[in-house]
Amino acid sequence: MSARSSLDFLQVLFRGLRLRCPRCGQGPLFASWNHLSETCPVCGLEFERRLGDTWFFMYMSTAGLSGVLVVAMFLIRPRVVWIGQLLVCLAAIAVIGLSLPYRKGIAVALDYWVEGDDSGGGAPGV
Ligand SMILES: [Zn+2]
Repeated sequence: MSARSSLDFLQVLFRGLRLRCPRCGQGPLFASWNHLSETCPVCGLEFERRLGDTWFFMYMSTAGLSGVLVVAMFLIRPRVVWIGQLLVCLAAIAVIGLSLPYRKGIAVALDYWVEGDDSGGGAPGV
């Protein structure tokens, strides 16, 4: 059995949301605000073992947030249209930009949960 099997799914997800390593929960995921570290400084887990593993989640979460903002645009009817457009643009930048590291943390945690604890490195050849 791998070490991952002893971890609860929500525990792994919560670690990602806290921007911590999904395996040990201690090492920080990011070297800076939006720069993902290559490995965990505590347990050595490689965060993005295959380039693009988290791409789909990041794309879909950005699309989902954009969809929410589009719905908000249709529901909110400002007296001055350009002010409403400006507010929606600022909200989009804030929501999508500020949530970026948290969404990436969730993506890394989900990738770890799905792929398992393959700390030996290297993706299996297909
Ligand atoms: Zn770790």
